[in-house]
Amino acid sequence: MCYNSSVDSLQKLKAVSLAARMEDPEEGRQTSGPLTCDNLPIFNAVVSGGRNIRLLKSLLTSVCENNCAYCGIRWAKDSRRVTFSPDEMADLFLRLHRVGACEGLFLSSGIAGGGVRTQDKLIAAAEIIRRRGYKGYLHLKIMPGSEREQVMQAMRLANRVSINLEAPTAASLAAIAPKKNADALFEPLRWIEEIRRSIEPRGSWNGRWPSSSTQFVVGAGGESDRDLLGMAQRLRREAGLARVHYSTFEPAEGTPLEEASPENPQRSFRLYQADFLIRDYGFDAEELLQGRDRLPLHIDPKLSYARIFLLEDPVEINRADRRDLLRIPGIGPRTVGRILDARRGGSRIRSVEDLKRLGVNTPRASDFLLVDGRKIVTQMRLF
Ligand code: SF4
Repeated sequence: MCYNSSVDSLQKLKAVSLAARMEDPEEGRQTSGPLTCDNLPIFNAVVSGGRNIRLLKSLLTSVCENNCAYCGIRWAKDSRRVTFSPDEMADLFLRLHRVGACEGLFLSSGIAGGGVRTQDKLIAAAEIIRRRGYKGYLHLKIMPGSEREQVMQAMRLANRVSINLEAPTAASLAAIAPKKNADALFEPLRWIEEIRRSIEPRGSWNGRWPSSSTQFVVGAGGESDRDLLGMAQRLRREAGLARVHYSTFEPAEGTPLEEASPENPQRSFRLYQADFLIRDYGFDAEELLQGRDRLPLHIDPKLSYARIFLLEDPVEINRADRRDLLRIPGIGPRTVGRILDARRGGSRIRSVEDLKRLGVNTPRASDFLLVDGRKIVTQMRLF
């Protein structure tokens, strides 16, 4: 390990970027890989509110005293380490922001000198950035071991805060991150929700509390999709999380898992789909899993559900409630809103054209719905 203070900040940023890839680069979903901007770790990302921005993603330090089995900057790995001071990170980000290279910052860190000390440095960098007038997007990581007061300070500065749970069960966490404790990781997420609910956001940079998220490493600790989706449901219920990120495991060289098989990215994709269906469509994890531990990889979870339950028992479009309408493939929440509005206004859906006008993807939906007791006929099916 070494820390070279003579290298220029941009070189340090490039050096830390490789390590930072262990973090999920996205806020909503990643729309492309790193930009070619001199190979800086700047990503197109969709952030809360649906805005697409260029996000600089960095660690404050790639020194870490923990030894997570999957991590490219674990303590036991012999590699070059890079550390920014809070001032240096703030300067660098604001410089890149001023020249238009990036529009937002995702700032995390390895743990050096304990969670409390590391969190203080992250907060210091964020304070400098806000004090210098930056009003854009800032995502701050909460370090394991941080104190409640620090969590609140971070919340006053950020648009989003997150803490990585890494694995959904104590056993899968022990397999990949033996120094981490599931309860201790969960606690700051509860504090965030408790603060949002019980304390006025006075003193926060924009008069609002930030949203929160977490990340799981998919495929490293023997966890099932049932474990992941069950925990995601619990997190939404108990901690009001806006997002759960599913980061596909890829073995990193020089780690105990370097010989392990990489996880299939399709698994994470299906988990994102299922999570979205649970969050926005009111599905329960069990409805999508149907007694299995893993979601099928070859079919989208909503279509899989519909083939089991709706082929024989299609949904009557002129009578069904919101819950049942949302279970039809090819119909999303906005379309359901339009269908219910039309029905409330006295309109009756009678034809494929009516369905199309309301936004129904008829080739996808036609096997699973009835219009006044009859199946509709479409010219082509897309599945
Ligand atoms: S805490 Fe674990 S995952 Fe995070 S930087 Fe350190 S070794 Fe890597």
